[in-house]
Amino acid sequence: MQQEAGRAGALLTIDLKALRANFRYLQARLGRAVCGAAVKADAYGLGAIPVSKALVAEGCRHLFVAQLEEAISLRAHIARDVAIYVMHGSPVGYEAEFVEYGCTPVLNSLDQIAAWRNLAQERMTSLPAIIQIDTGMARMGLSQAELRAWLNDFSLTDGIDVQYVMSHLACAEDQLDPMNGMQLQAFKNVLAQLRLQFPNLKASFSNSSGIFLGSDYHFDLARPGAALYGVAPVAGQESPMQSVVQLQGRIIQTREIPMGASVGYSKTWRATQPSRIATVSVGYADGWLRSLSNCGVAHIAGVEVPMVGNVSMDTITLNVSHVAPELLYPGALVDLICPDNTVDQVAKQAGTIGYEILTSLGPRYQRHYVDEV
Ligand SMILES: *Cc1c(COP(=O)(O)O)cnc(C)c1O
Repeated sequence: MQQEAGRAGALLTIDLKALRANFRYLQARLGRAVCGAAVKADAYGLGAIPVSKALVAEGCRHLFVAQLEEAISLRAHIARDVAIYVMHGSPVGYEAEFVEYGCTPVLNSLDQIAAWRNLAQERMTSLPAIIQIDTGMARMGLSQAELRAWLNDFSLTDGIDVQYVMSHLACAEDQLDPMNGMQLQAFKNVLAQLRLQFPNLKASFSNSSGIFLGSDYHFDLARPGAALYGVAPVAGQESPMQSVVQLQGRIIQTREIPMGASVGYSKTWRATQPSRIATVSVGYADGWLRSLSNCGVAHIAGVEVPMVGNVSMDTITLNVSHVAPELLYPGALVDLICPDNTVDQVAKQAGTIGYEILTSLGPRYQRHYVDEV
């Protein structure tokens, strides 16, 4: 293990203790509502299997993925008493695989509902599902017209055990956006109508940011992803979440360049004085986004150093003129994602969101899990 780490161009450390602390924090914030977890897209790039196992060890019983394929590969590692929900619902014709693997579809259309009901009737049993309602995001879930059709004919869900009705917020990270309140009201109206028929119907509404909009938004089950992984849940506010990801790249070599020399492809940076440049073995092929060219930073022994020149496929270049030379040996680690340069800060430098930084984390990194279950 140690040897491999020494060989690797970059080290990605994923702190499952911090992840579990974040889960506990969100669960405490939710009070009586239950905290689930979005582990789609390989748990936002952090590794769906180790992340899910850690969350389950912390008491999580509701995991959300996007696609059936993700659910099947996760199920092999997760006990059947933990629900795995597939937010895209079933691919057409693959409903039976949900039963086989003990996974639960989120039904997003009358067609998906009909296919699930047909399977239930064929098997002469009742099958669990979540039904998603679109409350304004216009991405997934029953439209207003489809909802009306259901309200007019509850036999559409005969044989379906509707465990939750859910919807998804479009702007939850911006606490002042009026869309939050509009979606909340729309969701409450839907629930009031459905509860005339299903008095015990449970509801799921909030992602990470939704949890911070207050208890009105909590309902029975929340589905946080990003905040668990250390992304700040509320725009413009200090994050209460612990950071989970640490990324360190290795110096390959350093060089002195004269005033006027350019660095990297397309010579987008030029030295205005004699400079020392360090080349580090992380590039856009590792998900270190090319948009960080000339605006990202790294830290060496706590000192911030600017990235200069374009990000290459396999390397970045740092202006280390002000760093003590004894820190700049080949093999030295430089901090790329660290408490001084969080996922959210890197995202800002790259002109994107923390979600994209995490889900871009590359396959070449030597991964190390702290407190793996
Ligand atoms: C991705 C997703 C979540 C989790 O969102 P975060 O913002 O990462 O907390 C919850 N619900 C749905 C429907 C999603 O697509």
